[in-house]
Amino acid sequence: MIKKVKCNVCNYKFFIEKEKVKEVVEDNGVSGVMTGKKIYNAIDCPNCGCQKILWPRMIKNGRDK
Ligand SMILES: [Zn+2]
Repeated sequence: MIKKVKCNVCNYKFFIEKEKVKEVVEDNGVSGVMTGKKIYNAIDCPNCGCQKILWPRMIKNGRDK
């Protein structure tokens, strides 16, 4: 399935290519140590080069049962 996304910055519409999707981690600085980090899938806009966040990825919590 091919999905199309729109860049938040330049409104350029482009297809999500699976090979170009990368995992990024939200940088919370010091507070991130306490709250944990969020991982997102992101892709760079081919028009303006900004990073488009696609969807969050949840980290499995080791304490979950
Ligand atoms: Zn853009």
